[in-house]
Amino acid sequence: MIIRQYKLFANWRKSFSKNFIYHYLSGSMAEKNLPEVENSEENLIIKLEEFLKIKNPKKINLYLYPSLTLKKKDLGGTSPGFSRFEGRKIAYVYNKKFPKVATAHEETHLLCFEWDKPSSFIEKQYIISTASFYEGLAMYTQSKFFNRYFNRYSLTARPPKGMTLSQAIKDDINNDRVPKIKDILMYEGYCKKLGNGAQLGSITEFLIEIYSLDKFRELFIKLSESNTQAKNESFFKTVYGKNIDTLDLEWRSYVVNKSD
Ligand SMILES: [Zn+2]
Repeated sequence: MIIRQYKLFANWRKSFSKNFIYHYLSGSMAEKNLPEVENSEENLIIKLEEFLKIKNPKKINLYLYPSLTLKKKDLGGTSPGFSRFEGRKIAYVYNKKFPKVATAHEETHLLCFEWDKPSSFIEKQYIISTASFYEGLAMYTQSKFFNRYFNRYSLTARPPKGMTLSQAIKDDINNDRVPKIKDILMYEGYCKKLGNGAQLGSITEFLIEIYSLDKFRELFIKLSESNTQAKNESFFKTVYGKNIDTLDLEWRSYVVNKSD
């Protein structure tokens, strides 16, 4: 068994495009559909670069795993996606069960480090901003550039199938089941109080769509898991001239009044 695994992982093959180094296994669906994958990844990264106002400076290593079991064995986690700042590494499961290489979320995790350096080390990885905003930005681009409707996405809980960011959270807001932004802002609250991962993407959407990406970026890079809660809360006032509770109320009414 060990010998087989060794052989398997020694067999990663490589292919290059402008922004990526693709790692795939011989005989896999990735090998077969490589031109199609390269095309869609290059198209996606152009959209993300424009949206985030950055240029990807160096090729990203994209590992295309033929199964979730292999990906779990090698990298852990239950999601088909994976990203790490170290090594500019992304992984995604690509097979009949996961027939689309959907890396908008994971690429966003890597690309946002072009805004600033990592500011904390959490869950065995470097992150920038707080966990809630680091995830929120990736959830928003995932919904914007890959799949407007949630299907399988799960962060701490699974939103109802086939709903937009707003739809997934609107009913919870109307029924008072959504924690305040300040209660999930930092890692502890994010782990304990977040009911539905769509909330993070929805808050990000609100701040970007209503107040601009530039302001969002300013907030995003000031926030850090290495700061105190009070310091992180104060940055909302610095950037938006409004405190976190006011923005929380504005976000709720934005969601409730949205037509999608
Ligand atoms: Zn993520």
